[in-house]
Amino acid sequence: MPTAVTKPEAIAPSLSANAQGLGIPDDLPGLDASKLLINCSDKLKELPPPEKLVFGQTMTDHMLIMDYSPESGWSAPVIKPYAPLELDPACSVFHYTPALFEGMKAFLDPSGQPRLFRPDLNMRRMSTSADRVALPHFDENELLKLIRQLVHLEARWIPNIQGYSLYIRPTMIGTRPAIGVAASTHACLYVICSPTGPYFPTGYKPVSLWAEQDAVRSWPGGTGAYKLGINYAPCFKPQREAARKGYQQILWILGENQQITEVGQMNFFVVFKREDGDWDVVTPALDGTILPGVTRDSVLSLIRADKASSPLANFSHKLHAHERTLTLPEVKQLADEGRLVESFGVGTAAIICPIGRIGYQDKSTGTTSEIQFPEYKSGLGPLSTALMESIVAIQEGRVEFEGWSVPC
Ligand SMILES: *Cc1c(COP(=O)(O)O)cnc(C)c1O
Repeated sequence: MPTAVTKPEAIAPSLSANAQGLGIPDDLPGLDASKLLINCSDKLKELPPPEKLVFGQTMTDHMLIMDYSPESGWSAPVIKPYAPLELDPACSVFHYTPALFEGMKAFLDPSGQPRLFRPDLNMRRMSTSADRVALPHFDENELLKLIRQLVHLEARWIPNIQGYSLYIRPTMIGTRPAIGVAASTHACLYVICSPTGPYFPTGYKPVSLWAEQDAVRSWPGGTGAYKLGINYAPCFKPQREAARKGYQQILWILGENQQITEVGQMNFFVVFKREDGDWDVVTPALDGTILPGVTRDSVLSLIRADKASSPLANFSHKLHAHERTLTLPEVKQLADEGRLVESFGVGTAAIICPIGRIGYQDKSTGTTSEIQFPEYKSGLGPLSTALMESIVAIQEGRVEFEGWSVPC
C-alpha cells in the first residue's frame, strides 16, 4: 500500500531521466536565490475589500522575474514593482508557444504568518513542464526560496479571513528573439500574485457537466500531463458551446471506450458504494493524459493515510482509493444501480468542486441523457465535506500533516 508521504517523484517521475540532457552548461550561472535584488515599490496599492475580489483580476504590488540567455545563464533574480513585460515581437512564445505555468496558494496561519501548501510538488511539476517544451532547466529549490521571499513581501495582500488566500502564478516563456522553428534558447521566468476568495462565496452549488466526446483535451503521447499554455486555448470553444447547452463545465471524454479524463481544469473523482458497505473512491490513473494535480495527490494520500495519523480517521465509511481507467458507461451503470455517493473535481483554485449532473449524447441514437448525483443539503457530499475541512485546516496551519504546510 502506498504511504501517505508523496515525494515529488510521484507527481513527475520522469524528470530526472529526461531533464539531464537539457541541463544548462556547467560553466553558465544557474538560478541562485542569494543573488536576489529587491526593488520595492515606493507607492503601494490600496487593498481592495475582500468581498469584491474576482479570481485572478487583482495583482499585488510586486513581481519576481529572471531571465536565461545562452551567453550568461540565469540572471540575478529581481523582485520589482508589478509592470508590463517588454518583448521582441519575434519571441518564440508568440509563435510556437513554449509557455507554462503553475498555480499555488499562500494561506495565513493562526499566528498571521504566510504558508505554502506542498510547494515542492509545484516546483517539480514546473520543471517537468519546462523540460517538455525544451526550455532551460532551473534549480527548483532556488526558485522556491525566491517565491517564499516574494510571498513574505506580499503577505499584507492575504485577507485574514478563512477561505481567503494569495494565488501565486509562476510562469515561464521562451523568449528567443528569432522566428526560425526551434527550441527557445532564451527564457523569462516570472511570478505574479493575486489575492483570492473562496470559489463558492455563497455556499456550495454542485456544477453541471457536459460530457464532451468530440473535442479532446489530451491524448496518449500528447502533453496533457504538463501545465503548458498550449493545453488550454483549445478548450475555450468547447467550453463556450457547453455553456450554450446549459452546462457549466466540461467532462473530458477520450476514445472509443469513453474514458473520463478530467473535469474542466480539475481532476475528476467519483465515490460509490461497494457490496460490503465500504466506499470506493476512483480517479483516473496518471497515464499521460491526466494533469498530476497536487490536490488530487493530497486527496489520495489523505484517504490512504494510516488510521492513526489521518485527519479522516473518524470518517463514517471505510474508504478504498483507486487510480484506474474510469468510463462514462461505468458511471452511468453505477447511477442505474443506485450506488453513486458523490462526484467532485479537485484543484488548487476550488480545492473541491461538487458535481451535480452530467449531460451526454448517446452517439447511437443522438439523444441527450443525464446522470444525476445524489443531492446534499450543504451542496457538498459527505466525503467532499471531510476532505475540504481536512485540506483547508492543513493549508491554514491549524492541523499538521506530513509537513505539507510550509511557512514562508
Ligand atoms: C492545474 C490543473 C489541475 C489541478 O492541479 P492542482 O495542482 O491540484 O491545482 C487539474 N487539471 C488541469 C488540467 C490543471 O491545469
